[in-house]
Amino acid sequence: MTGKSKENRLGRAERDLIALGIVVAAILLFVTIGGLAMPGIISTILVGGNKTDNLLVSALLLNIALVIFGWRRYRELTMEVAERRRAEDQARQLAELDPLTGCLNRRSMVQATEQMRCHHHSRSDAIAYGMIDVDLFKQINDIHGHMAGDVALVELCHRFRTVLPREARLARLGGDEFAFIVPYKSGEVDRIDDLVIRLFEVTSYPVQLPNVTIDVSISIGIASDEDVDDADGAIIDAGTLMHRADMAMYQAKKEGRSRYFWFDPAMESELRFRNQLETGIRRGITREEFVPFYEQQIDVESGDLVGFEMLARWRSPQLGLVSPDTFIPVAEEIGVISDLSEQLMAQAFVDAREWNERLTLSVNISPVQLRDPWFAQKLLKHLVSANFPPQRLEIEITESCLHESVEMVRSMITSLRNQGVKVSLDDFGTGYSSLEQLRSLPFDRLKIDRNFVSELGGPSGHSKIVDAIINLGRGLDMPITAEGVEDEHILHALKAMGGLKAQGYLYGKPESAEQVRQRLRLAGLLNSTNFAEAEPASQPASHADITPRKHHG
Ligand code: C2E
Ligand code: CA
Ligand code: CA
Repeated sequence: MTGKSKENRLGRAERDLIALGIVVAAILLFVTIGGLAMPGIISTILVGGNKTDNLLVSALLLNIALVIFGWRRYRELTMEVAERRRAEDQARQLAELDPLTGCLNRRSMVQATEQMRCHHHSRSDAIAYGMIDVDLFKQINDIHGHMAGDVALVELCHRFRTVLPREARLARLGGDEFAFIVPYKSGEVDRIDDLVIRLFEVTSYPVQLPNVTIDVSISIGIASDEDVDDADGAIIDAGTLMHRADMAMYQAKKEGRSRYFWFDPAMESELRFRNQLETGIRRGITREEFVPFYEQQIDVESGDLVGFEMLARWRSPQLGLVSPDTFIPVAEEIGVISDLSEQLMAQAFVDAREWNERLTLSVNISPVQLRDPWFAQKLLKHLVSANFPPQRLEIEITESCLHESVEMVRSMITSLRNQGVKVSLDDFGTGYSSLEQLRSLPFDRLKIDRNFVSELGGPSGHSKIVDAIINLGRGLDMPITAEGVEDEHILHALKAMGGLKAQGYLYGKPESAEQVRQRLRLAGLLNSTNFAEAEPASQPASHADITPRKHHG
């Protein structure tokens, strides 16, 4: 209670007492004066004459007025107090409850957790803190609107309540984040597992609105205050519980959502690494630590070098040379992939402009960038400012992009192709795209994922999937690139299929811009800068010519 409200209440109580005192005193006075004046008044009424003391009568009348006045004042005051109390209750509720769902809010959840923890700690019971996050809630809002999103949240909250035991508390921490606390008998964690499974059950069926049906799923992270690893007996307070449950929830998201995890101490160090990674990536972009590497793309039949695929690398001062599998997903999640990719492309255009103009440049594009309606425009701007011909550029999009709106992908591909840029479908065979999608989307090329290509290196030298993809590509009139050519066996098998391009460690590992420049200089495939020593390479050179040494390992 704040000092000010305490003062208010004291002041009010004082005024209450004075009003009540006036009433009581007035009544006492009324009894005394009434006792003196009444005999005179009664005999005047009954016998007649004038035996009343005028002064006493006046005093009595004044006294009656005082009683009425005092009583009214007292009534008013008590009503005022009740009114204020109502307003205070309302303000307190507003401060403690989430207005949309009526659950506790983040602030009051901390208090409730701490209270429950202390209460049950003294009884040697444990409490579990569960963090619930709705999966892909932003998409629900984007697709169905915020009103529908709100209805879904209220409905979810209602469903959670049906499952949680009476002694549990439920809070909405903000946005699509909920939390619950529930006490349990020490050691009986199965009870919590059962409870969580029931939470998943009640969210497994869609939220039905008048015009739409919304599918929802949740991820949950749980932490308990009876953590066996805390052998030193340190108190796991509300803040720690929330933090731990949050980390466990993050793990659930990372493992593919719609699942739950109990907190494990290893998560803490992983999260620390993740935070370092995020900061490092942001800083790396401003310091231009990301650089393009290039992997050769070869015409299988002739062995000619036909172009390069740009593959991002991070020259991190702390971590060394980092692979894109480590930083691309994080850059996507923290919303910096576009900046990163544009920076890399701008560098790659400058590098590739030095190469023989027959050599193409392939660039990988994240699904996140494909969702950006300005992507084609941004790309064009970089092409123009680097003076790089769009005809030499090939954009690689992965099959997983097709899970997004096919219409959006189609319009993006169309606008890229209108600029003269080619578009290939990367990692084909891993993303379950339908034949119909393939037929209707105007791709220029299919790239067979290296997991299938590697089957050609087996004893049979055959792969039914590779055969099927090649037939499919031919049927749809799409040229094909095989990735992951690691040995002569695979190359041999691919040669027999005819008309393919290939890339892989057999031809060389991805190299830095400078290494590529050296390679091309030796092969006479450098443009302007070394024009004097370059051969007039109107035809792509044979792979044998341009590979002074192979990069294995
Ligand atoms: P990807 O597009 O499928 O690229 C091929 C990956 O396979 C590259 O890994 C390459 O080094 C590796 N590779 C090439 N030949 C062989 C081989 O013979 N055997 C084996 N085992 N591997 C081979 P890298 O460079 O680590 O790239 C991994 C993925 O990161 C790429 O897969 C691509 O999806 C993504 N990526 C790379 N650069 C970018 C970028 O600038 N933007 C985006 N969005 N994604 C990128
Ligand atoms: Ca690729
Ligand atoms: Ca690929």
